[in-house]
Formats: sequence, structure tokens, C-alpha cells
Amino acid sequence: MKTAICPGSFDPVTIGHVDIIHRAAKLFDKVVVVVMVNYHKPDSYFTAEERVELLRRSLTDTENVEIEMYGGLLAEYANKKGACAVVKGLRAVSDFEYEFQQALTNKKLNPELETVFVTANAENMYLSSSVVKQVCEFGGDISEFVPEQVCDDIIKRIKERNRFSK
Ligand code: ADP
Repeated sequence: MKTAICPGSFDPVTIGHVDIIHRAAKLFDKVVVVVMVNYHKPDSYFTAEERVELLRRSLTDTENVEIEMYGGLLAEYANKKGACAVVKGLRAVSDFEYEFQQALTNKKLNPELETVFVTANAENMYLSSSVVKQVCEFGGDISEFVPEQVCDDIIKRIKERNRFSK
């Protein structure tokens, strides 16, 4: 059985993320989506538990997907899960340098681990969690950016955070 890991901060999940995870689920027998808690973006809007919950509700239609959180080295986590690959989405050339560096580091730490890059649908390619937060903070409509089943909760949380941070 071939298992892949889809890591990210998912702060919050977007339809771009869901697009990448669905593609990974078609390529591999099992996909473990992992919310990385010590990720490079320390100032998160949603707690790790909230991010896991939003992903869970967004992925009810995909049977071979599990959602977890982890706070250590991805290469070690992949080993523990028996995963042969990490699946990452590439949006633009700007993502490439960072992702390439991560992929080579992971391979150094775990030589059996491959990184597979996939692209989302062209209409989802521009999307990021930061775009969702920015648009929502300024009162814009994010209903086409995030999964329908979690949209209201995402809006509520971003607005709450905005109120308390002022
Ligand atoms: P974000 O930049 O949205 O905060 P994350 O760190 O949570 O992203 O991303 C997890 C993975 O999903 C990364 O591999 C990232 O490149 C990918 N990804 C996120 N949004 C998109 C998108 N719109 N198209 C393709 N890949 C994406």
C-alpha cells in the first residue's frame, strides 16, 4: 500500500488545498494530511485543533484520507507513517525555491522519501490562506475560496480575531 503525506499549515483550509489533496488521493492508496504545528508561520489565526477540524469537515467525501497534526520533522513523521512520498502543490515559480529546498532537505534526512509536486486547477492556483484572511478581514466575499461546509465558521473566526486584535 502506497501512502503519501500532504503537509501544510492550512490556516485555514482553502479549495486550493482540497484540490491538491483530492489529486493526491487519486494517486496514492492512502493520504495523511498533516497540520504542521511548528510550521514556519508562527502567528496562526486558527489553533492546530481547529485547522484539523476544518480539514476533516472539508474532506468527508474522500475515503482514503486521514487528518492529523504533528510538531516535529516531516521526514521522521513520514518514516513513522510508512509513507513513500510527500505531495506538495505548486502555485507559481515563487513557491518553487522554498519547496525545492524542503524537498532536498527531506531527502537528505530520509533518502527513501520522494516529493511529488502537483498543480491545482488553473482557477484555484492563485489561492492561499493569506489571501482568504486578507479578503475576509476587509469584508470581502470568501465563499468561492474555501469549502462551503466550513465557510461560515472561517468567516466568524477571522472576524472575531480581528475584533480582539484591535
Ligand atoms: P498556504 O500558502 O495557503 O498557507 P500551506 O502551507 O498550508 O499553504 O500549504 C500546504 C500545501 O498546499 C503546499 O504544498 C502549498 O504549496 C499547497 N497549496 C496551497 N494552496 C494552493 C493552491 N491554490 N494551488 C496549489 N497548491 C496549493
